[in-house]
Amino acid sequence: MKLYDGFISQINGLINGRRALTAEYSPSSLENAGKNNVLFLKDTAFELGGSGEKCVSTLAVTSSFKYSNRIRLLGGDIKDIKSDCPFAKIVLLEIEEIDEETAFEKIRRLEQIRYNFCPRGFMSRASAISMREQIRVGKKTVKDKISLVDYAKFMLGEYLKDSIVKSAEIILVTDRSFDYDGLISVSEKIKDTTSALNHILDNVLFDCKSCNLKEICDEVEGMKELHMKTVNQKR
Ligand code: SF4
Repeated sequence: MKLYDGFISQINGLINGRRALTAEYSPSSLENAGKNNVLFLKDTAFELGGSGEKCVSTLAVTSSFKYSNRIRLLGGDIKDIKSDCPFAKIVLLEIEEIDEETAFEKIRRLEQIRYNFCPRGFMSRASAISMREQIRVGKKTVKDKISLVDYAKFMLGEYLKDSIVKSAEIILVTDRSFDYDGLISVSEKIKDTTSALNHILDNVLFDCKSCNLKEICDEVEGMKELHMKTVNQKR
């Protein structure tokens, strides 16, 4: 799977060279609060991405790059944050080579992990359409000195449990000076690529001139070849 490689390089361009706290993965001691976990406002210290602050969450898969199962945090951690602030969450996954027929379904399954798992003391409010993922942090979480690295270790552990994931990296950003708009633009293209993948696997019409996915297929290497191959297989 190389379709997202160009976008991963663009993300690296936004992240690399910036000051970051780095932590290696180790199993998290945080408890899973499950997908219907609720953290009421009265119990919330602040919300990452809350109060209309810039917020974006994205996930990209590759079979070209390897990760060292680490976490990077750009900006302040829970102990430094006093109120709602901007937030970005980036999940990069090295996966096994997957066949085209099941690629969309497997990528969707990986995207669903953020809805199914959340450590106690946090509450994630995510929207695939707006690409936002706001995270409420509980007052008790602050008191217990739990960190965003602890949060990321928990989530990384859930991604590593998936049978096709070989290695992973999670990058969290709370730094106000980060280029959130740049990341939103790359995340939009990642989302469009996954939509195009779904269309390609489902659709036997190959007419780029009248297709509303032309812009993304022009940018992503291998997309047109994949559609052509799929059409030929179905004929
Ligand atoms: S390859 Fe052409 S027809 Fe197929 S999804 Fe892309 S733009 Fe549309």
